[in-house]
Amino acid sequence: MKNEIVRIELTPLYVPFRPEIRQAMESGAGGLGMAIGAEEAWLGGDFVICKLICDDDTTGLGESFVWLPETGISPDQIISTIKGCLAKYVLGESPFNVERIQQRFDANITRNEVAKGLLDKACYDLMGKITGRPACHFMGGQTVSEIPLAALIPLTDTETMVRLAEVFHKVGYQAFRLKLGKGVKEDREIVESFRDALGSDVALRVDYNQAYEPPEAVRAIKAIEPFGIDFAEQPVNADDYLGMAYVQKRVDTPLMAHEGCFSVRDFVTLVELGAVGVLGLNSERPGGVTNAIKVLNYAELRGIGAVLHNQPLGIASAMHIHLAAARPHNFWYETELFGYVMFEDDLIKDPIDYSDGKAKLPRGPGWGVELDEEALAKYATGPTTVIKK
Ligand SMILES: [Mg+2]
Repeated sequence: MKNEIVRIELTPLYVPFRPEIRQAMESGAGGLGMAIGAEEAWLGGDFVICKLICDDDTTGLGESFVWLPETGISPDQIISTIKGCLAKYVLGESPFNVERIQQRFDANITRNEVAKGLLDKACYDLMGKITGRPACHFMGGQTVSEIPLAALIPLTDTETMVRLAEVFHKVGYQAFRLKLGKGVKEDREIVESFRDALGSDVALRVDYNQAYEPPEAVRAIKAIEPFGIDFAEQPVNADDYLGMAYVQKRVDTPLMAHEGCFSVRDFVTLVELGAVGVLGLNSERPGGVTNAIKVLNYAELRGIGAVLHNQPLGIASAMHIHLAAARPHNFWYETELFGYVMFEDDLIKDPIDYSDGKAKLPRGPGWGVELDEEALAKYATGPTTVIKK
């Protein structure tokens, strides 16, 4: 056996949100709950599950969340990009050669970070499965075994938002992300009510989902700064880098780009423009674990803290926890992993332990989680694409 990747399997799937989350999404401001201004309500998640299979049948798993208003790419596009373009740089390779695979991806196909990252993530699970070690051993080692979490509070009426935050606070959450973007005055009232109810000890971050033009974003952030905000996420349009820089230069709160940051180069550009003060990472951005490590090293050298924020299923949740367990010094802000609250299924057999507001590192080789094949078949939206060497 050469530990060579000989087969790639890609399955598109859609997992609905739990009924109470769907209701919150539909009833939130503008019917958007916590989403960006797309015409269709956000009621579930599209994903692609990737299996990389070696010559001895060892299998590594990757998972990518896809949402067209954010990622600009559909599950079918990811699958066809891998089948038509990226697969040949993976098949016949060792999963340990992530740098070489990445170099060949980038030399031959520009952009497409979500598709490239999906394959890269599965390599880390494979490395762990082949060696019998947890995946975090290939990300810098295991430093901690549990990760403090932040709760996500959708944009709805103030009373509901505060009540929801109190529920999470009671079970151990000490950090909260509030969705804002209703208007300068309304946003301020929400944050003030939140502080009145939960006090000054809890950490607070806000996410505007591109709600404002730059001058209004400055007014909105300045209005809530007296209440103590760790960082403010994506106040202006995703591709308005100059607008982000305009806002960042006029407020004290560090900004984080979410919809506007998809690649290592995006983040470097935003930092060099003075447009952000926090690195936001999720399972799709900036494209796999290898790129995440690169961008974390860059942020560290620039004195910038990072946050993991996403709503993945079980596989990508485990990936987040391994990354945070290996490099807790990078993650100044509590991790947001909200998939287990939002989706009706996480597609893994044994659930990850999220008790007391902390995610526990799954035990076992690779990600330490096992794919639930029945759930995969149940939620699949199309046939599995199989690509062989
Ligand atoms: Mg966001």
